[in-house]
Amino acid sequence: MGKFELITLPYAANALEPVISEKTIGFHHGKHLQGYVNNLNAAIEGTPFADKDLVEIVKTATGGMLNNAGQILNHNLYFQQFRSPLADNKSTGELADAIDAQFGSFEEFQKAFVQSGATLFGSGWVWLSADADGKLVITQETNAANPVQKGLRPLLTFDVWEHAYYLDYQNRRPDHLNALWQIVDWDVVAGRYVGC
Ligand code: MN
Repeated sequence: MGKFELITLPYAANALEPVISEKTIGFHHGKHLQGYVNNLNAAIEGTPFADKDLVEIVKTATGGMLNNAGQILNHNLYFQQFRSPLADNKSTGELADAIDAQFGSFEEFQKAFVQSGATLFGSGWVWLSADADGKLVITQETNAANPVQKGLRPLLTFDVWEHAYYLDYQNRRPDHLNALWQIVDWDVVAGRYVGC
């Protein structure tokens, strides 16, 4: 067995329906993410990276090692931030206050975040992160990049690789991104903001 393992989902494979189908979860978690885990374990074997944690590898590796480590870190944050659909799903507490203060309102934040994901050309991820001063920032990261590479603390991410939505939404990426708001587990996301 390799050093890194496929994360166990904190919900059933069909728990995110109809926003994300069981079939998409099966391929995305069981095939795509498993592939990145297998590739990284093979790549680090016998190298100085074999003893490093995921974030360290993402901050210091290059090439295929960086790409596979980045995709594992990205997907772990992604899959762990969801739960079953909830109507009128919103952030609460300190993070909600920071979102209101910086983006004007929760709705304005949602609009800016979806716009950022919808306009990212090709494959990548849209992120909400906190900087060293706790200020919130939305960034587009291409391919396997992660905000930790810019010194940011990642809080929330939407995957805009086609494998994340094509079985359910085909070319309708904005529809998929707008639907994801129903399944964000804001307790998990707010937990990532604690201490900012
Ligand atoms: Mn993905």
